[in-house]
Amino acid sequence: MSGGAANFIKCGSVLVTGANRGLGLELVERLASGGFSPGKIIATTRNTATAEKLQELAEKHPNIHIVTLDVVNQDSIEKCAADVAQLVQEEGLNCLINNAGINVVADFHSVTAEKMIENFHTNSVAPLMITKAFLPLLKRAASRGALAGSKTMSIQRAAVINMSSLLGSVELNWGERGNTFKWYPYRTSKSALNMVTRCMAVDLEPDGILCMVIHPGWVRTDMGGSEAPLSPEESISAVLSVIGGLTEKDHGSFLNFTGEQLPW
Ligand code: NDP
Repeated sequence: MSGGAANFIKCGSVLVTGANRGLGLELVERLASGGFSPGKIIATTRNTATAEKLQELAEKHPNIHIVTLDVVNQDSIEKCAADVAQLVQEEGLNCLINNAGINVVADFHSVTAEKMIENFHTNSVAPLMITKAFLPLLKRAASRGALAGSKTMSIQRAAVINMSSLLGSVELNWGERGNTFKWYPYRTSKSALNMVTRCMAVDLEPDGILCMVIHPGWVRTDMGGSEAPLSPEESISAVLSVIGGLTEKDHGSFLNFTGEQLPW
C-alpha cells in the first residue's frame, strides 16, 4: 500500500456522485474493500432502484450509504445535502468527489446550443451547485480538523475533488492532439470545470477546504469505451493513492492519476 492510500484510512466520510457504474462505482468498491475504508461512504445515484451493483456492495459493507442525487436537479441536490447532514451529524463531510459526468459528442458541424448547455449543466455547473449545497458540512469537518490540531489542508480534514479530463486542457489541445476527439461540448465543459475548481480553491481556502481536479486516465467504462488502456481498478487505485496523499501544495491543482501536474 502506498503512503497516499494509507492516509485515506483516517478520512471519516467520503461522498461520491454518479456511484452506480463506471469510475464512481469503482471508487465506492475500492474505498469499501481496499483496507483503508472511511467510516461513511456516501454513494449517490439518480436512480437507486436500478443501482443493483451498488446495492449488492452496500449489503456487504455497512459503511456504504446509498443516497439519491440527480446532479442537474437543484431540489434533488438540496434534499441530498439534508439527508447527508443527518448521516454525518456534527462530524461533517470530509471529502466530496464530484464524479458524475456525461459526454455529449458533437463536432463543429453537429454542435448545437442545446448540446453545449446539456454538457455544461452536468459537468461544470452541477459540481459548483453541489459544492455550494455541501459547504456547511465541509466547513464543519474542516473546523473539527482544525480543533483536533490539523491546520493544513488534506482530505482527512476537508476536500472537494472534481473529476476532470485531459481533454479539458486548453494547452494540450493543439497540433496532432487537436485533431482527435473534436468534442466541443465535453472538452469545453471540462475546461470550465477546471476554472470552477480554481475559483472555488480561492474562495474556500480561508475555510481550510482543499479543492483540486484530477484526470483519471483513459478508462474502460461506458464513457471511456472498450479501447481504453486502463481498467477501472488500475485507474481508481492510482486516483485514490493521489487523493489520499494530497497536501496544501496540491490545493488548486490539476493532477494526472499518476500524480503529476497537468497543463491547464
Ligand atoms: P460513465 O458514463 O461510465 O458513468 C457516468 C456516471 O455519471 C453514471 O453513474 C451516471 O449515472 C452519472 N451521471 C450522469 N449524469 C448524472 C446526473 N444528472 N445525475 C446523477 N448522476 C449522473 O462515466 P465514467 O465512469 O467513465 O466517468 C466518470 C467521470 O470521469 C466523468 O466525470 C468523466 O468525464 C470522467 N472521465 C472519464 C474518463 C474515462 O476514460 N472513462 C476519462 C476522463 C475523465 P446514470 O447511470 O444514472 O446515467
